[in-house]
Amino acid sequence: MRELSLKKELHVAMEAVKAAARLCSIVQKEMVRQDTISKTDRTPVTVADFGSQAIVVKILKEAFPNDPIVAEEDAMALERESAKGLLERVSFFVSEVLPDAEPEKVREWIGLVKKEAPGRHWCLDPIDGTKGFLRGDQYAIALALVVEREVRLGVLACPNLPWRLDQPHGAKGVIFHAVEGRGAFQTTLEGEEMEPIHVSRARMGDPEVKMCESLEPSHSDRETQEKLAKAMGIKEPPIRMDSQAKYGLVARGDAALYLRLPNPNTPDYKEKVWDHAAGSILVREAGGRVTDIEGMPLFFGLGETLRNNTGVVATNGLIHETVIEAISRGAQGP
Ligand code: AMP
Ligand code: MG
Repeated sequence: MRELSLKKELHVAMEAVKAAARLCSIVQKEMVRQDTISKTDRTPVTVADFGSQAIVVKILKEAFPNDPIVAEEDAMALERESAKGLLERVSFFVSEVLPDAEPEKVREWIGLVKKEAPGRHWCLDPIDGTKGFLRGDQYAIALALVVEREVRLGVLACPNLPWRLDQPHGAKGVIFHAVEGRGAFQTTLEGEEMEPIHVSRARMGDPEVKMCESLEPSHSDRETQEKLAKAMGIKEPPIRMDSQAKYGLVARGDAALYLRLPNPNTPDYKEKVWDHAAGSILVREAGGRVTDIEGMPLFFGLGETLRNNTGVVATNGLIHETVIEAISRGAQGP
């Protein structure tokens, strides 16, 4: 397929995630106060999830009215008895970012999404890494464009990610973006300081090979990942982080490897497309590789899940084959 320009698409997608990131930051500051909410209260993430979806959908639909949007949140959840007053709260925060928002409009925007779309479509995770969001930690707004079953564009806003991982108290807030054939970049949340990013040049055995994995133990197979890291001679402890920010770490060389082996307690779990679409093109465009644990490409465009794939492996490319071989040896036993 001829390379697509996607200039307008990139511009609009960046504006959409920037606006959504503003809402998420406001909600996180105003609602996620560790001292005032109980650990099990998920209201802030529900408000931010719907609010972020409303904003991204509104901005995308204005520019591309005919493009379907596949997204996680279902407007029906707003109608439930337990959701009383939720729409008003969501609308309040949306109007902090889009001043003309009012509840009926917000409800309509949230409802303009689908669970799947066969042709060109957008794929959105309004808040990826909800547990990180609730902890006041890492989360992302992840948006991708799929054309002919391939991800062609991805933007990933990480409002709490340090600009430099080795300076955790330095500047925070990164938007990663990539368009097929055009490389990968990071900018600040205001869209300044655009910088090309590249995967690390580390090879297996180099002391600087770092791995990353989910902070949430149930989202992957930590035990096997630890064994694999040991078998491959990785000395550094894994970087544990919520959300697709992990793909950002691989894309900009902070880690050479992101492992997501299926958790043995949920062997039938299928990865959701919106958890990998934006992140995977970032790593590819930064020079890396993304496959499943058998070395197969991720098959997008088959509905809500990556149903023909098992787990995910993202690397700097140089170490990819070694990792896939190590996994296959591990899977067959010693
Ligand atoms: P992470 O922040 O990388 O741990 O990934 C967060 C995502 O994991 C969520 O958006 C969920 O869609 C997804 N998830 C939920 N359950 C599982 C599971 N059993 N295995 C893998 N991913 C899961
Ligand atoms: Mg998610």
